[in-house]
Amino acid sequence: MTPNPGKLIIVAGPSGAGKGTVENAVMERFPDIEFSVSVTTRPRRDYEIEGTHYFFISKPEFLQRIENDELVEWQEVYSKNGHLYGTLRSYIDSALEKGQHLLIDIDIKGGINVKKAYPENSVSIFIEPPSLEDLEKRLIHRGTDNEEQIKIRLERMPEEMNLGQQFDYKIVNSDLDDAVDAFTEIIKRDVYHQ
Ligand code: 5GP
Repeated sequence: MTPNPGKLIIVAGPSGAGKGTVENAVMERFPDIEFSVSVTTRPRRDYEIEGTHYFFISKPEFLQRIENDELVEWQEVYSKNGHLYGTLRSYIDSALEKGQHLLIDIDIKGGINVKKAYPENSVSIFIEPPSLEDLEKRLIHRGTDNEEQIKIRLERMPEEMNLGQQFDYKIVNSDLDDAVDAFTEIIKRDVYHQ
């Protein structure tokens, strides 16, 4: 018997909107859903595990994979020193065939491209901060960006919000619990048809 096809839950949003926190809380509620593992050229952080967080590969290997058409999409993420990130076609296809649902944490343009590649299997969610002022506060509080980087991120917001209109759903992350509840409802309806 062919299993039910899996769904791709595509999640993107401006950096600092808090998508990682929302995603982790949602994943605790749905143990059947797995994170999709991408390839990247960025160095592994201490706590990260090869094959769990990413497949860490060299730039020449990444370019070879593009050449071999092994990636559904790929992007150079400028805020990460121009490192390359890409979604593996084989990873997605084998999950979908098994009926495995995947959550894909991805940059905004990459998310739009995955949705275009798998229109029947995708549910896309855009997580946005309540306001520009709120985003600025979060970025300052997070402490990973200097003043110049924060300025660049804020300037990029209008364009990013515009791209966000191409997603199926938008969740404004003003309150974490509310955002997690809204996300949960989308999954129950569109992934589990409850
Ligand atoms: P980080 O280096 O913090 O893990 O991720 C940096 C950014 O790259 C995040 O916005 C993340 O969503 C995005 N990203 C992760 N994997 C992929 C991917 O396969 N493709 C694209 N386009 N972006 C990705």
